[in-house]
Amino acid sequence: MRIVFFGPPGVGKGTQGSRLSKALNIPVFATGDILRKAVREKTALGLSAKSFMDEGKFVPDDVVIGMIEARITAEEAKSGFILDGFPRNVLQAKNLDKMLIKQSINIDKVVFLVAEDKALVERLSGRLQCKACGFGFHRHYSPPRVDHICDQCGGELYQREDDQEEVIAQRLRVYQEQTQPLSAYYEHQDNFCLIDANGDPEQVYRTLTEWVSG
Ligand code: AMP
Repeated sequence: MRIVFFGPPGVGKGTQGSRLSKALNIPVFATGDILRKAVREKTALGLSAKSFMDEGKFVPDDVVIGMIEARITAEEAKSGFILDGFPRNVLQAKNLDKMLIKQSINIDKVVFLVAEDKALVERLSGRLQCKACGFGFHRHYSPPRVDHICDQCGGELYQREDDQEEVIAQRLRVYQEQTQPLSAYYEHQDNFCLIDANGDPEQVYRTLTEWVSG
């Protein structure tokens, strides 16, 4: 099973994608996570991506396209994968189509998650992330057991640079201009599904799994 997730920042792509990936036993390739790991490890990729990310701008297309091509052609992607955060604009979607043709594979499901801006801002501005392992928490909805400390690895929690209020506004603008038009690119396909992600994540997951297994 090969699935593409797209939607605005804070809509829950990461949460839903990683849960579904465990249920289906397929890897999730989340461009944001891959880039943040590179930033933490101070690799050449991380160093070149950091300033774009901190300002809520897109990392250049050729960088993310190369990253995704390497992953979907790897052995671990043979039984399927979930893409979270890629494609994020029409040029990336066209490049993904080219990669798929080259590999003679198809995307089985395209999932577009939507939520109101108010809910997105509330989710993003309350998020906390572990400096060491990248695991995510939320101040109100899923707080850590001990303040500032990761439940998973004991690492220190921080607020992502791009989850600060001014940057959130910039990310939502970039989303509207570049990512939202992807719905026109995909919506005529039979495998396209729009899911309202305003509500309870459990309900969203149920709707998602019904659609994916349907
Ligand atoms: P995310 O965790 O998906 O919100 O991504 C965090 C940041 O990583 C974004 O604001 C961008 O700077 C960068 N990024 C992630 N995916 C992409 C992509 N497909 N194209 C360009 N930049 C990306």
